[in-house]
Amino acid sequence: MRQRIVAEVGIPGRGEPVEGATVLLEGAEISWFGPTAVAPKPSDGETVTEVPVVMPGLWDCHTHFVGMRNPDLERYSLTSTVVAAARATADLARTLEGGVTSVRDVGGHGLQLARAVAEGSIPGPTVHAAGQILSMTGGHADVHSLPLDWVNELAACGSGLGLLCDGVPEVLKAVRTNLRRNARLIKVCASGGVASEVDHPMHQQFSPEELGAIVAEAARADRIVAAHCHGKAGIMAALEAGVSTIEHGSYLDEEAADLMVQTGAILVPTRFVVEDLMANSGNLPAYVARKAALVADRHEQALKLAVAKGVRIAAGCDLFVSGENHGRNGAEIRHLINAGMTDLEAIAAATAVAPETLGPQAPSSGRLEAGYDADVIALDRNPLDDRSVWGDPGAVTHIWKSGMSVKSPQAPGTPRVS
Ligand SMILES: [Zn+2]
Repeated sequence: MRQRIVAEVGIPGRGEPVEGATVLLEGAEISWFGPTAVAPKPSDGETVTEVPVVMPGLWDCHTHFVGMRNPDLERYSLTSTVVAAARATADLARTLEGGVTSVRDVGGHGLQLARAVAEGSIPGPTVHAAGQILSMTGGHADVHSLPLDWVNELAACGSGLGLLCDGVPEVLKAVRTNLRRNARLIKVCASGGVASEVDHPMHQQFSPEELGAIVAEAARADRIVAAHCHGKAGIMAALEAGVSTIEHGSYLDEEAADLMVQTGAILVPTRFVVEDLMANSGNLPAYVARKAALVADRHEQALKLAVAKGVRIAAGCDLFVSGENHGRNGAEIRHLINAGMTDLEAIAAATAVAPETLGPQAPSSGRLEAGYDADVIALDRNPLDDRSVWGDPGAVTHIWKSGMSVKSPQAPGTPRVS
């Protein structure tokens, strides 16, 4: 059955907005988008929905469905996987409620939860998951205060965020372990991080040889590698190894930005999490607060430089703590505008550009165009006039996921499964 969405404005994801726009959905695909004046004639039995604004469903290219209540990896390690998955299930529903119809889960329970979403057991966005994060021993996805055997044991039973691996044979095994679980991409920590205790965000993690082996092994299965990096040494080593996306990029400078433009790598800056950690620094473990303060200003400068240099940018929030922030993912669009992107460029970062962060695994998503996935949202006001839309789940009045209506004013509340 055909569904017709008639909007005052259509924002296609790539390209200029269309005043007076119509979108037609047939099954799980968009069959037509364009000016209402020249839209195909109505057919028998089709539904018609009139809305102020229609656009593609949002993407978040850097999120975590881990079910962590506090940014404290040690405490999280003692959490039952069932409890963690239950929290993450609530986060999935919130994410969809906020108009996000697709995500990259770059470390967490996404591989398992993706199945539950896909089979229609729970509501949520389409989850493209990395599985466990490849980390060297003592690296960002290690839990430094626990005995090493415990961390390895947690990883072996599918709990815990990281998969510790050292040397080429072990990193190959780690990539293959994630591929065996059907990971859609591989995530690696190429520098120290903020939420980990003793490593330094400036230090490179993994050798060039290890990074190269990870990228080559992933590429043989048509998967890209996403690299967490703050310090410049990690950024450069990751780019030289051939990773496709740089996550955070706090110490990105002119040379690194030029290399990103040259290689076509995409930056997922995750400004949301940096702002959020700074705003809530009183509730953080002391080492997290200290490290967040270390990178926050430099991260802002790096993002502005990347925008000015024309680095390709995709939106991601790095929501690794359960709760109400899931669903406010659209706020990253406002952060990207604050860093110098135009409104339409920032919208593209969360729609048309976003699937490209999956390389050969990218679905036809993020655009209002015939043949693309029927992941479509409606807004109660035009975000080109009023940026308060971004990050406000209440502004998202309708959501169609794979052509199924999962949120509408006629059926408010928790999004339905599709
Ligand atoms: Zn992250």
